Amino acid sequence: MNSRPRVVFVASEIFPFAKTGGLADVVYALPAALGEVCDCMTVMPLYRFIDRSRFGIAATGDTFSMRLGGCDYEATLYSCEYNGVSCYFIYEPLLCECDSLYGTPESGYEDNALRFGRFDRAVVEWVHRRGDVHIVHLHDWQSALCALWLKASDLRVVYTIHNLAYQGVFEKSSLQMLGIDPSYFTIDGLEFYDKVSFMKAGIAYADAVTTVSPRYANEILTPEFGCGLEGFLRYHQDKLSGIVNGIDTLHFSPDSDSMLAVAFDASSQERKAQNRQDFLDEAGLEDVSKPLFAFIGRLTWQKGVDELIAVLPYLAGQPVNIALIGEGEAAYEQQFELLADTYANIYLFKGYDELLSHRLYASAHFLLMPSRFEPCGLNQLIAMHYGAVPIVHGVGGLSDTVADMSGFDSASVAGFGIVYERSSVYALKHALKRALAIENFDELSRHNMEVDVSWGKSAARYFELYEALLKAQRAV
Ligand code: ADP
Repeated sequence: MNSRPRVVFVASEIFPFAKTGGLADVVYALPAALGEVCDCMTVMPLYRFIDRSRFGIAATGDTFSMRLGGCDYEATLYSCEYNGVSCYFIYEPLLCECDSLYGTPESGYEDNALRFGRFDRAVVEWVHRRGDVHIVHLHDWQSALCALWLKASDLRVVYTIHNLAYQGVFEKSSLQMLGIDPSYFTIDGLEFYDKVSFMKAGIAYADAVTTVSPRYANEILTPEFGCGLEGFLRYHQDKLSGIVNGIDTLHFSPDSDSMLAVAFDASSQERKAQNRQDFLDEAGLEDVSKPLFAFIGRLTWQKGVDELIAVLPYLAGQPVNIALIGEGEAAYEQQFELLADTYANIYLFKGYDELLSHRLYASAHFLLMPSRFEPCGLNQLIAMHYGAVPIVHGVGGLSDTVADMSGFDSASVAGFGIVYERSSVYALKHALKRALAIENFDELSRHNMEVDVSWGKSAARYFELYEALLKAQRAV
């Protein structure tokens, strides 16, 4: 065998081709970070809104004619090179001819089971046809059926859960539609409260299951965070581990980020103020000396947006500026709009904007992350790297990556912020009061900029996992 493992990453979104959240960042950055020790490839759907000419995406000439649940369909393979990684794309009309990746936040597309079932089946066909892959690394429910369809193969399969709250649960009838034998419709198989769970396929049939922080790996074994799968996960606990995410420090790099008004590093951290002035001008906010509080993210219950909405009138009443960037559930969007209309010191950008987010990370004093649960969270890592102090609910990856400033130690390798333990409006408000009273912001900011938030250590952990799986396989 080639001494370098050949690994295929399978995901429904990968930056910069399509992104709705952290999953896309991870599957962009991790293969590149593993580049010195593994031969990595990625594969994702070729959604119609992906700019083929911008990325040089071209047909490879491979097509896959398949039959699923009595229906014939054809998938076409495309590819390009990006960031040192060979990127492959599956085009199939039902999967790709849509306006967004999954549908609305409130309800996904009706045919998502069939869309991603077809994607997974095509990936499995492609991998078999190649015959040179050692590890298939699946991400989230959209690629989980690959684990079922690869279980009889001699490939090793790793399944990473980025967010257990999104499980891909569909009507029982989708089994037949996908040509999956009814014998899998059991409690130790795909059945979930009389429906079918794609997530369970990944957990049950992968050789290793990982999630994106050690703390979240423990939390999901409990009823509070297990989303109904805690018992199933406990049953498979032997193959479950947590590896914390990093960020791509080339893409998120304050000292060379061309999206910023002015680049800076820990030794020129005061230049954040120049970025802030630029951001405030654009946002129509005033007074660069006021603390700037930022929120960037999906507007969902998970992100604690309702608690944020409850405390924003208090915060807006202080001598501060507030900038909110996000999109998501319509009710939260409306409440954000109302707040931005009411308070002159609240700026809202409703939507998704990579450039604006970089400029805000570079400008902000504080990043607000009142998440109810957070598998890892990338925002706090990015924010610290750009010299901001995160205010976080100490849960999941937030707890693993941010230490409370009361224990600040300049020699520590940890990043520091304001951490509160119990999710509540009261606790969040108390955290904001601590932020307003902060005296050593510059010191914390400089320290956070020097914390190692790169993929280095975590990529090494994934490599160890691949090696262990391949070694165990050779020993059989
Ligand atoms: P999620 O639960 O959404 O995956 P993460 O913290 O893991 O949350 O990752 C979020 C990623 O998406 C970060 O790179 C963040 O900067 C980015 N992001 C989220 N919302 C927006 C937005 N509205 N505009 C720009 N970037 C965003």
